Amino acid sequence: MTKAKKKKNMHEDISCCCQNSQAHFLDGAMQRLDLDPAQKQLLLQSFREVTVQIPLNVHSNGQKILHTFTGYRVQHSHARGPFKGGLRFHPDVQLDEMRALAQLMTWKTALVDIPFGGAKGGIAVDPATLTEHELETLTRRFTQKMSPVLGVKEDIPAPDVNTGPREMAWIFDEYSKSNGHIPGVVTGKPVELGGLDGRLEATGYGVAHVTELALDQLDIPLKGARVVIQGFGNVGSHAALRFQAMGAHVVAISDMYGGLFNPQGIKIESAIEHVAKTGSLNDFPGAEPVTNNELLGLPCDVLVPAALEGTINCDIEPTIQAKLIIEAANMPVTYMADDKLRQRGIAIIPDILANAGGVIASYFEWVQNIQRFAWERDKVFARMEAHLSRAYTEVHQLAEAAHVDLRTAAYEVAVRRVLRAVELRGF
Ligand code: NAD
Repeated sequence: MTKAKKKKNMHEDISCCCQNSQAHFLDGAMQRLDLDPAQKQLLLQSFREVTVQIPLNVHSNGQKILHTFTGYRVQHSHARGPFKGGLRFHPDVQLDEMRALAQLMTWKTALVDIPFGGAKGGIAVDPATLTEHELETLTRRFTQKMSPVLGVKEDIPAPDVNTGPREMAWIFDEYSKSNGHIPGVVTGKPVELGGLDGRLEATGYGVAHVTELALDQLDIPLKGARVVIQGFGNVGSHAALRFQAMGAHVVAISDMYGGLFNPQGIKIESAIEHVAKTGSLNDFPGAEPVTNNELLGLPCDVLVPAALEGTINCDIEPTIQAKLIIEAANMPVTYMADDKLRQRGIAIIPDILANAGGVIASYFEWVQNIQRFAWERDKVFARMEAHLSRAYTEVHQLAEAAHVDLRTAAYEVAVRRVLRAVELRGF
């Protein structure tokens, strides 16, 4: 293949990674469920899509400049409960991506059987270019504009890429100014404001739990397994900590600036401290630098993409040497790469199962906020793992019985549940 053709192929693969991948992945499940076109349309379309403009004076090179940011909230389905999904601050945020991720949330909440639908939102912004005060103002203005469609029984945002407890606290405060004290309007809040002890770690810990279940099936002990993690933010760093505590060797980690490799295993607490001090993994003394592409191709037992969509595409696929891929990020493997990886016998645990620990913990936080009763941390993790184990068993049993891959089985369980709720409620 010529260089230009290869580049074009990769570009097409990544650009279509969100909506097309999801449509492709769903197709197998929908065919097995024998859905007619009207049912498909009903399940695929968003319930509501809101776009807002947010003007803000920002400081740049000592000057005040007016900039108008764009914010989105896509609500896909509320057949099984209020809309639920993360809020992302990233320059690449756009409507198509939010649409695909909102739909993914519907299947995720249905798969792990918690009483929510699916939504996703965000602002097209690089938060690193704003002061804390500017970011707070932007978040509060976004909340004011979105507040008619948010609510504890309507739509409950949560952290995602570049958002965390701080942003959730601002949203809770802004929303409460005109609606009363309603902590349950967002999850992933600081514990002091009604957040759940364990929510911060939940997605990453859940990833490690699902990995253990999957490795067990492959007869590979987690203790001593070599794990490579792409993305060292909330999900990647907590998964790494948990893997290390479970006896695995986390041999490589990365962030957007590059990666690190140490065949003996990287000291995760030290790497977290280094990032907290310096803002990146660059110059961490305990490992050799590698690029993100080199990292994805390292020999390992488990590869955990925990950054953004489409990072494992058909260009990177031939370099992958892992035995198992755990989709800690949402949609990290494009459908073209997914087909090829499975043909090579590489098992893939799909995102709607692998990273569902976060939304399960968010469900517990929401319940706790409604009941005004705090749960203990151990109970949070035990119950989250029980939910994940139940979903894993259901998916695995269906995949075996129907001779389909785990992703198709996961989608089938989820779509069946959403469709049943829609039918029971009546059209
Ligand atoms: P985060 O902002 O805390 O961390 C993202 C990490 O990815 C950072 O280390 C960043 O430097 C790195 N990164 C960004 N672009 C990269 C690239 N091209 N190559 C390598 N690394 C890159 O975000 P997060 O909350 O950890 O979310 C990560 C993924 O997990 C997203 O896909 C998100 O949708 C998904 N997810 C998050 C949660 C949650 O609870 N936070 C729950 C479910 C799924």
